[in-house]
Amino acid sequence: LGLTMLNFHPGSSLREISDEACLDRIADSINLALEKTQGVTAVIENTAGQGSNMGYSFYHLAHIISRVSDKTRVGICIDTCHTFTAGYDLKSDYEGVWHELEDVVGLSYLRGIHLNDSMKPLGSHVDRHHSIGHGLLGMDFFRTLMSDPRFDDIPLILETPDETLWPEEIALLHSFEA
Ligand code: MN
Ligand code: MN
Repeated sequence: LGLTMLNFHPGSSLREISDEACLDRIADSINLALEKTQGVTAVIENTAGQGSNMGYSFYHLAHIISRVSDKTRVGICIDTCHTFTAGYDLKSDYEGVWHELEDVVGLSYLRGIHLNDSMKPLGSHVDRHHSIGHGLLGMDFFRTLMSDPRFDDIPLILETPDETLWPEEIALLHSFEA
């Protein structure tokens, strides 16, 4: 397909194997896929941690990356809704969360951000996207994110549920750019 990046949720343990064994298996699978391809970066999306989904902790992302042989072809995507419901308070501790990501994984691995407000509260581990400014993250969070120079060259992808609002949301987000 000529893709340069492929974004995916890392997967689930189904509680049949330990979290660590699951993370190791995900890394093995990424290694297999990278060995058989060229030019495409595997982009691991953080999750809300619904059910037995892995990837809700920044430590999960770091664990997977540490076991991927070609560090130049692995990256992460941060989904704002997933991050919040995984328990990282992007609303009240914006800088703290990004610093934690920098410390645990490294922002140099960031390849994309999914923009979603959240229907469900902090730490709920539920993956329910909401339209920008309509959820519990709120408009001020998106205003801050859009004017944050660290993300100037990072693809920002809208994944909100109400497509009739997309033109308005995109215009609004652009109006927040610094
Ligand atoms: Mn997403
Ligand atoms: Mn989601």
